[in-house]
Amino acid sequence: MSNRTVAVIGAGTMGAGIAQICAQAGWETRLFDVFPEGLEAGMGRIDAFWDKGIARGKTTSEQKAEWEKNLSACSDLAGAVADVDLVIEAVPEILDLKQQIFAQLDQLAPPNAILGTNTSGLKISDIAGVTSRPEMVIGMHFFNPVPIMKLLELVRHDQISDSTIEIAQEVGAEMGKSCILVNDVPGFATSRLGVVLGNEAIRMLADGVASATDIDTAMRLGYKHPMGPLELSDLVGLDVRRDILNNLAEAFDDDSYRPHPLLNQLVEAGSLGKKTNMGIYDWSSGEKVEREL
Ligand code: NAD
Repeated sequence: MSNRTVAVIGAGTMGAGIAQICAQAGWETRLFDVFPEGLEAGMGRIDAFWDKGIARGKTTSEQKAEWEKNLSACSDLAGAVADVDLVIEAVPEILDLKQQIFAQLDQLAPPNAILGTNTSGLKISDIAGVTSRPEMVIGMHFFNPVPIMKLLELVRHDQISDSTIEIAQEVGAEMGKSCILVNDVPGFATSRLGVVLGNEAIRMLADGVASATDIDTAMRLGYKHPMGPLELSDLVGLDVRRDILNNLAEAFDDDSYRPHPLLNQLVEAGSLGKKTNMGIYDWSSGEKVEREL
């Protein structure tokens, strides 16, 4: 294993998971969020994941103590990225926001640091283009839950260097991930298909084709998907899926990608899925329960 120092920007669903696996890989890991409550919640989720692993006999308290030593919470961006080899950004899927962050990272991170973005589908060249080191910017698309999902989708763009791709592949392998390499087309090889399926399932739910449970069961048992598209949308976050769909509609100039009105309504009502205990399903009891929509 190599010695690495990594900063993860954004301590939400994905950022916390990415920081967790970096700490588990033995790397000095700094988790940054602009909101103190976001940072605290992210650190709390990592702690709870490790505790659950101990309770299930999958890890030990000694191992957790080792991992904890590698991980720190940072509320100062400059401090978080000082001396790092790699930054992985996981802030919301909004191009302007990611561009602002990358402009700052370019100023604050060491010139030899690789800057990765966990965008689900934005064009990497649009993010790399705001930096003075586009050859060192790469798409590093992880999947939820990060500590469990094996895939890492690496996205290359026109200006990337071979050595950036090679280092990202090494990082992925050391994290225990299987990497695929995809060209810089919005939605990549994963999100484009995933969100279209989810959006169509929401349209079918709104049209009264079947209950949410039955639509999900159709894909699980009929097509061998491990999880139905509605349950998966709740797991990913309905706001995240809405943003990806809107970005695809704009990128391809095709309104068929637009989020279904029911998806917009749920997001506007704050029903974002599992993370808010309410989405297409009601998760407040800890179990998935069908709700009236
Ligand atoms: P999230 O809403 O759970 O977390 C985003 C975090 O970013 C929050 O903690 C928020 O406080 C923080 N944040 C907001 N503005 C910030 C700023 N200026 N600086 C630092 N932190 C800031 O979102 P998420 O689901 O973790 O998604 C993050 C990224 O990962 C998005 O680009 C998304 O498309 C992508 N992604 C999400 C999933 C998924 O299943 N949720 C899967 C793959 C990729």
